[in-house]
Amino acid sequence: MNMKPTSATLPTEQPGAPAAHKAILPGATLGVMGGGQLGRMFVHAAQRMGYFTAVLDPDVSSPAGRVSHHHIRADYLDPQGLAQLSAVCDAITTEFENVPAPALAALAKNRPVAPGASAVAIAQDRAAEKAHFVRCGVPCAPYAVIDSAEALAGVGAELFPGILKTARMGYDGKGQVRVADTAALAAAWAQLKNVTCVLEKMLPLAAECSVIVARGADGQMVHLPPQKNLHREGILAVTEVHEDNLPAAQMASATAAAKSIADGLAYVGVLCVEFFLLEDGALVVNEIAPRPHNSGHYSMDACDLSQFDLQVRTLAGLPLVQPRQHSPAIMLNLLGDLWFDANGVRAAASGKPVPPPWAEVLALPGTHLHLYGKLEAKPGRKMGHLNLTGATVEAVRATALQACALLGLAPF
Ligand code: ADP
Ligand code: MG
Repeated sequence: MNMKPTSATLPTEQPGAPAAHKAILPGATLGVMGGGQLGRMFVHAAQRMGYFTAVLDPDVSSPAGRVSHHHIRADYLDPQGLAQLSAVCDAITTEFENVPAPALAALAKNRPVAPGASAVAIAQDRAAEKAHFVRCGVPCAPYAVIDSAEALAGVGAELFPGILKTARMGYDGKGQVRVADTAALAAAWAQLKNVTCVLEKMLPLAAECSVIVARGADGQMVHLPPQKNLHREGILAVTEVHEDNLPAAQMASATAAAKSIADGLAYVGVLCVEFFLLEDGALVVNEIAPRPHNSGHYSMDACDLSQFDLQVRTLAGLPLVQPRQHSPAIMLNLLGDLWFDANGVRAAASGKPVPPPWAEVLALPGTHLHLYGKLEAKPGRKMGHLNLTGATVEAVRATALQACALLGLAPF
């Protein structure tokens, strides 16, 4: 396989932009740290544009590793694996935020790495992340960092009821405990093994939403339209994206806030910023993900550039063009639960997983099924997603509800 990098100077260099950087053109090899579904969809987008791909993931059957030209089966901090990845790649990105920042820093010595280790390190740590929001002047929930008995004792009554979240490694609602008062806080902190945590005031949410921005090395930014997200048991269940879905003024603020957060990190790549819309209409930032995000999956079928196309472009230094959503969209997350006794519709008497009725779902107009090639369905495991598009919001909603009924998903 010819792995020679090809490069050319970007024709779209803006006056006043940083020193001309080279675009990494199709035919070169793009790498990704992590082999999950996000890596898989990045690999698909890169390959569609004619790139070769490499994935580093220890798991033999990782969803991205199985579809990539190269799969380096090594631990994320294994020096040999990292050396192999940088030898084969022209540029490297990441697909999950808990890729050790030192691994990215090591790779960056030899190859362009986007996003950079310092931005990822901030996104990995809720305390650092919140400090960054404050620096950018974007409001977030009132909070306190709990890293000592003194800090715990110093928490004021105004933060209750609250949510105690581990500063690191939390996802899908894991590593979080709701606390009503100081006594509950002490018990919850002990339950979380006294690791550094952030206590946040519980806010009255009217809706949750997210904005995906892509920022190039030259500072240029584009964004996807704001997504409205419904979570169930801490996991994203449904994303809806269409006009009038969310209040326009707050969404303009959310998009501007997401861009200032990306700018403040000198971010290169795709960044997702999650927001809470409060009952009184206020908008507060929740957290960031330094990568494409589950809530952006609708863009694969409803926009002329998906979040993965944007990831490829930012990594390769290709021009960023503002994406256009051409269809209202709804995304339904497909968790492993659907392979089991989903809503009693397809009770698997044996307790063995039974695939959902795909053919019936695909008989509905405007359905786009994405499955991640995971070998085993398990409750809570993200197995795939179903995008629905249509001519009108009403049509998409109607089809989505039919799909929910077929899949045994609760209506929304
Ligand atoms: P994760 O990393 O698991 O996604 P989040 O901080 O986004 O963690 O919290 C998960 C969910 O918990 C949010 O999507 C929201 O529904 C709820 N939640 C988190 N923080 C707050 C808060 N301060 N007030 C109200 N609800 C919250
Ligand atoms: Mg979240």
